[in-house]
Amino acid sequence: MMEDYGDIRCFIVDMDGTFYLGETLLPGAVEFAEAVRSTGRRFFFFTNNSSHSAAECIEKLRRLGFPAEDGSVIISSHVTIDFLKRERPGKRVYLLGNENLTNDFLEAGIELDENDPDILVMGFDTTLDYEKIWRFSRFLAAGKEYIATHPDDNCPLKNGFMPDTGSFMAMFRQSTGRMPDLIMGKPYGFTVDYVTHKLGIRREEIAFVGDRLQTDIAIGAWNGLKTALMFTGVTSPALYEQSDIRATDTFANIGELAARLRRAAKEK
Ligand SMILES: [Mg+2]
Repeated sequence: MMEDYGDIRCFIVDMDGTFYLGETLLPGAVEFAEAVRSTGRRFFFFTNNSSHSAAECIEKLRRLGFPAEDGSVIISSHVTIDFLKRERPGKRVYLLGNENLTNDFLEAGIELDENDPDILVMGFDTTLDYEKIWRFSRFLAAGKEYIATHPDDNCPLKNGFMPDTGSFMAMFRQSTGRMPDLIMGKPYGFTVDYVTHKLGIRREEIAFVGDRLQTDIAIGAWNGLKTALMFTGVTSPALYEQSDIRATDTFANIGELAARLRRAAKEK
């Protein structure tokens, strides 16, 4: 039987490679949003990329012609900030992050300290320099708790990629032997907990939609949630065939998922 996502009340949708590619909305993106609403569901965007603010992401969606609502974008940095506020209250943080991430931490009231921090947080710092690398390594060697916003090795670009936090982790492991104690974004359970708590929804009622097996689909496979894999980004059908990470179902594009939701609603 074809998966109809009948028990799903909310879709958590990846952005790049799933909803748009580079500077273009992918086929069926607008139809997906309409199908979600017309079948009485909700959807939110979720990106691991902690170098952008939510406002920037919404601005980009609007620029591409999609009327994204304020509050519709969730980022791994939000999961991290929420975790720190609830589980590590009052702790001082040394943060690897660009201006966007730093501002998000400061606005959330997290105390940043580059001389005597309690906790180290590594985000997608697009302003990383040798001074920061050296400082972070010294704190790692001193045994301080080490948290990463997300695990992606590279950030895809239209014509290439940028090295992302997973690559930074490999560098710090080489220097200090340490890997993060905790990682917050997809595919980890912290993201499931944050999303269900924030949206007031049960985990059986959410499905993750995305193009990357190791994050968008693994989060479902590891946490017992439904997923929908899109072949519009980094994963081809041939690559999926060889993978151990299984999606609930696969689609040529997000418009196909929209059509599936509409058909299932009509058949009810
Ligand atoms: Mg993606």
